[in-house]
Amino acid sequence: MQVLGSGGPEVEDKRASSSYLIWEDGRARVIIDAGGGSALRFGESGAKLSQLDVFLFSHFHVDHSSDFPALVFSSWFGDRTRPLPVFGPSGNKFMPSTTGFVHGLFSEPHGVWRYLSEMVEANPKGTYELQPHNVAASSTPILVFRDADIAVYAVSVVHGAFPALAWRVDIGGKRIVFSGDTDGQGQGLTQLASNSDIFVAHNAVSEGASGLERRLHMPPSVIGAIAANAHVKQLVLSHRMLRTLGKEDETRTEIERRFSGAIRFANDLDCFPF
Ligand SMILES: [Zn+2]
Repeated sequence: MQVLGSGGPEVEDKRASSSYLIWEDGRARVIIDAGGGSALRFGESGAKLSQLDVFLFSHFHVDHSSDFPALVFSSWFGDRTRPLPVFGPSGNKFMPSTTGFVHGLFSEPHGVWRYLSEMVEANPKGTYELQPHNVAASSTPILVFRDADIAVYAVSVVHGAFPALAWRVDIGGKRIVFSGDTDGQGQGLTQLASNSDIFVAHNAVSEGASGLERRLHMPPSVIGAIAANAHVKQLVLSHRMLRTLGKEDETRTEIERRFSGAIRFANDLDCFPF
């Protein structure tokens, strides 16, 4: 599991925003989110768009999705020919659905970058097709995508009023789980993360956070409780923001009160073997 973006929305954190890659045998198979800066990190990682089997979005805040068009346009010059399935949440009045997001970017006649409309149409000209799907998830994990050796599951998580998903990728007999942004409410994430080899949790607020930031994100104590209850093997803390950077000792102490497995703080391009 490679972290392409370990930061949050702030450019001052000097990190790309959220994005993760799962590699197998030298091939990038799955990408989760594409926040700002992650397209550059994708290139630095040596991955190719033509390698990906599936694109997953946790939600459509800018820091999780803004480099998607950059990756798509980059792939225009590449050698991908097979369709690329894109899965993410359904929409509501605050956020587009996954189909709405992709079509809002690329479809005729109103898409922002409708000059790339052939990316969303089956066409004979040789470019590949983006195939967006809305995932109707609940707090019980559902199977969203499967091929020969990958199975992908999702649960819905609470992230304020914004539709959001946590993802689990089963590959090579291992289980990697991504919390996405959430306040940690409910049992779905714990169920999804159960016995995971790697659990990537978002360390966007420090202990004692209140107000809006706490309503959107989970503090270290909640991350620790979920990791412990789910019997996670390795916890990777990402989505590091100015409000949590520099507080790693305090964060680790809070988590270790509940969770006794390995804890790592992510930096851009770090790789976590599983
Ligand atoms: Zn975020």
